[in-house]
Amino acid sequence: MTVIGRFAPSPTGPLHLGSLVAAVGSWLFARKDGGRWLVRFEDLDTPRVVRGSEEEILAALVRYGLEWDGEIVRQSERTRQYEEALAALRVRGQVFDCCCSRAELQRAASAPATSDPQDADGPVYPGTCRGGLPEGRVARAIRFRVPAGAVRFDDLVRGAIEEDVLARTGDFVVKRADGPFAYQLAVVVDDAAQDVTQVVRGGDLLSSTARQIALQRALGFPTPEYAHLPLVTSPEGAKLGKRDGALPLPALDERRIGNTLALALSVLGIAGIEPGGPRAMLGEAIHRFDPRAIPRGNAAVSLGPEP
Ligand code: GLU
Repeated sequence: MTVIGRFAPSPTGPLHLGSLVAAVGSWLFARKDGGRWLVRFEDLDTPRVVRGSEEEILAALVRYGLEWDGEIVRQSERTRQYEEALAALRVRGQVFDCCCSRAELQRAASAPATSDPQDADGPVYPGTCRGGLPEGRVARAIRFRVPAGAVRFDDLVRGAIEEDVLARTGDFVVKRADGPFAYQLAVVVDDAAQDVTQVVRGGDLLSSTARQIALQRALGFPTPEYAHLPLVTSPEGAKLGKRDGALPLPALDERRIGNTLALALSVLGIAGIEPGGPRAMLGEAIHRFDPRAIPRGNAAVSLGPEP
């Protein structure tokens, strides 16, 4: 079976060290087995999309020697496929309309809202609309009726993972109150449509994986392999990534590209690759790449002074 991996950035800013690690890591996993590597833009959350960042991200991938296969896919062009998946879930009673506002859910749970937009489901859903909308209320979001029981999977980096989705998040949103399809549904539909066999991404998305597997099962899709890479943090442990707008990659000079690529490779457990041309570096990295050497936790990175 040919390995098909992918890199699925949200075009919300330029590539950052965190996203570069995801790009290089997913590329290494796919290419070490002679597999294909796809690029998909996750641009459903339109208010966060930054014009021009797609071009910037693609140009950065080229500069770092990361060549992709096939056409670039954009989630904003795939609404019909998400509608179809939602209709399939609806027919089987696996989704339901929900009238609850975030404020109502927070009051019910008296828990602070999550600040992660990928994870914008708020506190554990208490099941308010599971049995039907309360009298006189109108539907806002559509939620997936999460089956009872634990989801188990073997992460290629983190090992055996088990999560009870109903207990941890409850029935989660698949179509948001403000209109767009939720990341969780779109990613599952797209990975299946693109025959992705291997999902390699940042450790911040580990908490989404059990939900995605639950959706795959409901839709009759195969479950790909998963590998969650170290989350890049500052030496103090603060998350770095484009969602924080931190750590833009250095400008185009060759030496800095080599240094940044060496840093990304060291986060992935490949130390001591001499900075040079990115293609030569990646060629050497592929020989030395050993998924078992990828650290399981966060990677604290000190950027040091600009050269
Ligand atoms: N679009 C997500 C991000 O940029 C990645 C989603 C995924 O790889 O499944 O963080």
